[in-house]
Amino acid sequence: MTTTSASYTDVFACSAGHSAPARFRFARRDRVEGKCLRHALAHRPLVRTAAVTSLVVGTILTAINQGNLLIDGMFPEVLLWKVPLTYAVPYCVATWSALRISRLG
Ligand SMILES: [Zn+2]
Repeated sequence: MTTTSASYTDVFACSAGHSAPARFRFARRDRVEGKCLRHALAHRPLVRTAAVTSLVVGTILTAINQGNLLIDGMFPEVLLWKVPLTYAVPYCVATWSALRISRLG
């Protein structure tokens, strides 16, 4: 009796239609899609959820950390990198977390 030891990633190619193996699995309504990292990072529901998370959490963190300056009408030059970074961090965390739980194998 012969057994095969194909892993889940060997079975599925990226659903975007190229030959890269699927590394992440996304369920949408009645189907499951496997995607490579590049296409997983562009998966619209993932991007949308991460963007909403970034908007909510980034706004709260900006209000906590820089609210006093902004209310006083001050916008020091240092905020030009601090505020975008405050929004980028929750986006990255939400994306990483989604990819982590969607990972195959
Ligand atoms: Zn792909």
